[in-house]
Amino acid sequence: MHDDVHLTEGRVSRVLKERLWPAVHTTAAPVSVEWHELPGEPIAPAEGLALAYEKVEVGTDWGPAWGTTWFRITGTVPAEWAGKRVELVCDLGFDVNMPGFQCEGLVYTPAGDPIKSLNPRNQWVLVASEATGGEEVELFLEAAANPVLLDYHPFLPTQEGDIRTSSPKKLYTTRRIELAVFEKEVFELCLDLETLHELQVELPEGPRKFRILQAIDDALDRVDLQRIAETAASARSALTGVLEATSHDSAHQIAAIGHAHIDSAWLWPVRETIRKVARTTSSMTELLGEDPDFRYGMSSAQQYAWLKEHRPEVYAKVKAAVADGRFIPLGGMWVESDTTMPSGESLVRQFLYGQRFFESEFGIRCRGVWLPDSFGYSPALPQLMKRAGFEWFFTQKISWNQVNKFPHHTFEWEGIDGSRILSHFPPMDTYNSRLSGEEVAKASRQFRENRLATGSIAPVGWGDGGGGTTREMAGKARRLADLEGSAQVSWRHPDDFFAEAREELAEPPVWVGELYLELHRATLTSQHLTKQGNRRCEHLLVEAELWSATAALRGLADYPYDELDALWQQILLQQFHDILPGTSIAWVHREAAAQYARVAEAATALIDRALAALAGEGTVALRADGRSGAVTAAAPAAAVSVVEQGGTYVLGNDLVRVTVSAEGLITSALDLATGRDAIPAGAEANLLQLHQDFPNMWDAWDVDRFYRNRVTDLREVTSISVTPDGLVIERPISADSSTTQVLSLAPGSRVLDISQSTDWHETEKFLKVAFPLDVKAEQTLAETQFGYHRRPTHTNTSWEAAKFETSMHRWVLASEPGFGVALVNDSTYGFDVTRPSAMTTEVRLSLLRAPRFPDPETDQGLQTHRYGLVIGASVASATEAGSALNTPPRSVTGTRAVEPLVTVSGEGLVVSSVKLAADRSGDLVVRVYESTGARTQGELRVAESFGRVDEISLVEDPIAEVSADGGVVALSLGAFEVRTLRFHRN
Ligand SMILES: [Zn+2]
Repeated sequence: MHDDVHLTEGRVSRVLKERLWPAVHTTAAPVSVEWHELPGEPIAPAEGLALAYEKVEVGTDWGPAWGTTWFRITGTVPAEWAGKRVELVCDLGFDVNMPGFQCEGLVYTPAGDPIKSLNPRNQWVLVASEATGGEEVELFLEAAANPVLLDYHPFLPTQEGDIRTSSPKKLYTTRRIELAVFEKEVFELCLDLETLHELQVELPEGPRKFRILQAIDDALDRVDLQRIAETAASARSALTGVLEATSHDSAHQIAAIGHAHIDSAWLWPVRETIRKVARTTSSMTELLGEDPDFRYGMSSAQQYAWLKEHRPEVYAKVKAAVADGRFIPLGGMWVESDTTMPSGESLVRQFLYGQRFFESEFGIRCRGVWLPDSFGYSPALPQLMKRAGFEWFFTQKISWNQVNKFPHHTFEWEGIDGSRILSHFPPMDTYNSRLSGEEVAKASRQFRENRLATGSIAPVGWGDGGGGTTREMAGKARRLADLEGSAQVSWRHPDDFFAEAREELAEPPVWVGELYLELHRATLTSQHLTKQGNRRCEHLLVEAELWSATAALRGLADYPYDELDALWQQILLQQFHDILPGTSIAWVHREAAAQYARVAEAATALIDRALAALAGEGTVALRADGRSGAVTAAAPAAAVSVVEQGGTYVLGNDLVRVTVSAEGLITSALDLATGRDAIPAGAEANLLQLHQDFPNMWDAWDVDRFYRNRVTDLREVTSISVTPDGLVIERPISADSSTTQVLSLAPGSRVLDISQSTDWHETEKFLKVAFPLDVKAEQTLAETQFGYHRRPTHTNTSWEAAKFETSMHRWVLASEPGFGVALVNDSTYGFDVTRPSAMTTEVRLSLLRAPRFPDPETDQGLQTHRYGLVIGASVASATEAGSALNTPPRSVTGTRAVEPLVTVSGEGLVVSSVKLAADRSGDLVVRVYESTGARTQGELRVAESFGRVDEISLVEDPIAEVSADGGVVALSLGAFEVRTLRFHRN
């Protein structure tokens, strides 16, 4: 027979778009609309409802960027609508392609109860599920004029990303606000047709495809386009046969979970996220009420805490749905944080505060870590997840890799210590699924474990800016439950999916080491103040806990539980995966910098208070070591020795001798004991290099490998001088920017210390500092949480070549047997490594960038860095030097020295945290880890008397009692093992 697939496809597409979907709401009745515009910051709903409103016509422009407009909508349901489902339809000027990225609103009752949100894919509010006719309607709408910053003109610099620079221009025009009858049969017909149409597109030519096409034509033949509501039921009956055909035995099983990945800040500030969470959760609790099969999952304890504080009425509904097991808290973290840059203690606290919140609010613990969207995953995570009590890990971001396709979807991920955790990436390659035919088919086709396993996860809903699952998606899920030719879709708890996956895959494939994202590599450098603030505050809080615990256990001061909890939660929020990576708008980073300054000040005040209690009132000069917890007599200030020798400069002590050229470049760094020079003959280190850096897209996120092709070596010197602080080198970077370095070397130290301050006014540039090293390093070792990465320096494979910019924490080490050189830093996370020759290795630290999207002024102004060259370094000495640089000793005055509360002995053992227990029992918690990658033994000694000692989890659950002898605990740790002990008070 003659056939024309495209004719049917064109027909169904046009009829759906132009006639059927618009006919879901047809019969309309006008309403009266009043408004009150607020250009600045939002106000509480109670205040919004009490505003003075004035009449406005639909079709009026509204909303300057970031402003809020309150609407009051009143009307009467027509008497002839009795028995119908009546909805308020509201189009605020929506672009259907941009839910979460443009204007949105939350609808309230006159009593102030939030009902449901409005967004481009959710333009209705229920007025009466079965109207009696004549009902009076009064609703309030809090509409946010959030500007579109991405998509229309992707990655163009814009001033709209901060309320301080955004324009007063009104961004939106109301298009439609009226009461309407919801034609259920038309709605169901639309979903029938759309589901079948999208399915047949994915099917091979064969009977199933053609029978669907024929049924679609039959159905469309029965629709009278002028009497759609009246003919919809008849059209649907033509589709019954193809919709009732069931799927085959080996159909892929999709465990769907309703979702809205809500970025805690990104192209909007934190204050807007608070409202986004309220909007999405109000709609999701509404949908849970409508669809008994639907289940919704939301991560981030912080977002629940915001809801509890700002929209308690919605929170009560969420709480009830959590109790029913249908609103599912996910992830067990405070926020969906970056995992590459936060310290080990930070990740522990993400889990601790996250799980404690879910436990205290809902009586549950999350069993998996849910991080669909952060930019690469640290190889320390498997151990930390396991030791925090998690059983599974979920992401999908690695599907964004530029070059290499990840080989597994369900697998065990093995970390640096050997811990493994069952992990899953959805083969649909999205965390914002709409359950389209294309997505569902992709999951089935791409799933890498198809030989042995049957299913995958699909997070279903509009995400990033919120929105969540729609009734259209829920309707599709119902149709895809068991449909011939499709994967089977059911709403499921991810825990159940993982339990089944574990059963099916007796020996899952194993991936060892970091989950490196081959994209967004510049997130290790963009927004330097944010990186620096994170690093400083992490160390200050750990130090504040140490001194506070010491003072508290000696009866000298109360432990500041409330303050420390609040400060940690601020730092954890800023570790969100668009804040710490530096990829948010200017507004977010401006607030982050201010927040870091406040936290640093408050943490320092806690340190000062505890030290004053410990050292007593007095004038004796003392030195407080915030790493060991000891306060000792202050040593006289060490003189820095720099000698000028015929145009070059020498910094030397008993251990090393560093030679600096007249251009301020290091030409030699000699280890006197071995005679080895860290710098190759003829090479120059401490060379600042400026690259052009204009990636193809995602400016703040990406550096593309061609950035290397254009480089300027900064050799020009404005001045070089010997001062009491060290050798001071001033040089221009360009006509607009300049930098000053102070090179110094303390007596008895192997670390050449470099303090740099840069007046940075560049555009689309990348500043690096290069250290060519006379070391034949097969690999670099770079610190991560509680251990280090080991990465090859060569580029034999595409996987290694893709890692042209990689992460570190406080140090990176290049070594060969017998000799190594490390670079330590106090505020940076990115570096690159190349091999100038077979015998040498060049390490470059990434210092500053200047992308123009989404913050057009990224990193402009004064920036400071401190880093150091460790000459003759091992893992242990690099760890020590990195730690010392980040927690420098303090000068205090008092009357007495202080013995440390906790000491540890044993090669490679490092104390990570000394604090009081989170349950406020007054028990002492000490965390220790093995830092070198070797099995080790040692002792932990606590200088106070305690009762029982327990090993506990990272979220402070008991594991087992350990034997202790007079405050001494014998330790035996595996490579990179993290161990947490709780010393019970007597
Ligand atoms: Zn995200």
